[in-house]
Amino acid sequence: MDEFDFTVDLVLPLVLLKNREGAMFKKKLVSDIDVKGKKVLVRVDFNVPIKDGVVSDDTRIRAALPTISYLLDHGAGVILCSHLGRPKDGPDPKYTMRPTAEYLSRLLNRPVAFSEEAVGPVAEAAARSLKPGEVLVLENTRFYPGETKNDPHVAQQLAALADIYVNDAFGSAHRAHASTEGVARLLPAVAGFLMEKEIKYLGQAIENPKRPFVAILGGAKIGDKIGVIRNLLKKADLVLIGGGMANTFFKAQGYPVGDSLVDEESLDTARQLLAEGQSRLRLPKDVVLANSFEDSAERKTIEMGPIQDGWRIMDIGPETVASFGKSIQGAGTIVWNGPMGVFEFPNFAQGTFGIARAVAESSAVSIVGGGDSVAAINQSGLGAKITHISTGGGASLEMLEGLVLPGVAVLQDK
Ligand code: AMP
Repeated sequence: MDEFDFTVDLVLPLVLLKNREGAMFKKKLVSDIDVKGKKVLVRVDFNVPIKDGVVSDDTRIRAALPTISYLLDHGAGVILCSHLGRPKDGPDPKYTMRPTAEYLSRLLNRPVAFSEEAVGPVAEAAARSLKPGEVLVLENTRFYPGETKNDPHVAQQLAALADIYVNDAFGSAHRAHASTEGVARLLPAVAGFLMEKEIKYLGQAIENPKRPFVAILGGAKIGDKIGVIRNLLKKADLVLIGGGMANTFFKAQGYPVGDSLVDEESLDTARQLLAEGQSRLRLPKDVVLANSFEDSAERKTIEMGPIQDGWRIMDIGPETVASFGKSIQGAGTIVWNGPMGVFEFPNFAQGTFGIARAVAESSAVSIVGGGDSVAAINQSGLGAKITHISTGGGASLEMLEGLVLPGVAVLQDK
């Protein structure tokens, strides 16, 4: 077991516990139970980018601080577990949680212990010696193949470390793994404040939105998001489609789309959705084409129409940014997931950044999820103008699809 002790002074968002009323959230919260003198296992989402052994984006770690601080202030010993990346064959130093423990120690300005095992004798000894007010970070749960298989043995070993389980890992709540679902069956299991906040915002948007409710969907593959489009067509007043997924709709409408990315398997579904959605589904009016898939490609902007071979759709055009922007401006609630074009190439990023600006400038309740849209908002420096930036891309999509998150369903009801 190692300890990290940094005495760097950082201003801590220790008490971010406002707005916790959440009429929609029916699960018991960490503040609904007595944690004094207890050992509390918290599933956090510390799946953060690491560069040269150092955390390079701390958004997810900071998002877990309200729950961690609450537990420490109320006399609990805090054991944190998470996955990081996708290690293939057991332990891999590339995916160690150690940098997150070091980083957390700096944020909390107190020592944070690290266990080189997530379960088994090493973790048990570390957990046993943990005192109230102390923090322990366990090694990557995905170093154990039983984690993703929701193996009851791994769940039991995790449960053996603590008296109470808290799930604050919204970003992993759509997966039934040993650390998100299995272990919750074996201990008193409640939600953390981040989990509550995420579900409150997304749940409110879907079930009781301030109208008009405008959903914006983009990204490459329509296949992954068909369920989301279908559910949103029932719930939202407008569904604005951009990005690569619009191409499949264009092809379904009968346009030749040249070399554009198309999901052939989703063509029939796209036709159905066009028929079902009609007035609520909006596609780009104009698009930016490229003659190859690179930033330096030749470009042209056209009104949407037949596209010649040798050309491909790379972004939405300025007219679309303006007309989508108008809908966004008039919205009461906005949910945005997925870029409007190949925004990694600056020459094809204007659509995505234009939409980011429109969302940020609107006075609507705005919720942005998914790594790329969140990156676009942050790169524009507009994060502070968004009502809620979700820490979970996949989980937020499953909520928008109307699915139950297994990591939440298993928690105790109020
Ligand atoms: P997803 O993971 O499905 O949200 O897709 C994100 C990816 O979609 C980003 O890497 C974008 O570059 C890509 N993308 C967006 N628009 C297009 C497009 N028109 N053609 C190809 N890729 C696109």
